[in-house]
Amino acid sequence: MSGHSADAGTPQGSAEVGGTAHASGTVALRVRCESCGPRVVTLSSVRLVGRSGRWEYVFTCPGCRARVHRSADEALRAALRGAGVAELSSPDTGDCAS
Ligand SMILES: [Zn+2]
Repeated sequence: MSGHSADAGTPQGSAEVGGTAHASGTVALRVRCESCGPRVVTLSSVRLVGRSGRWEYVFTCPGCRARVHRSADEALRAALRGAGVAELSSPDTGDCAS
């Protein structure tokens, strides 16, 4: 409500991640890579990972091949779930120990 100064940073649109249904039936998601910026990946390459009540989404960037983790708040999580992203919740042990 008060003055919101335009900071140098990410352009905050309505949502960082949006699903787009293609005519082919493939769903593409708009995500954001730290290095490459906005990217479009397929739905199947994105995962929601929950850990101790906190959620993040993980994807492999098609640009730099990096495995990108980004935190997902409740709204974002709902949006991703709505788009059909698979959810994985790890109870306690975060990393998959071999
Ligand atoms: Zn990248």
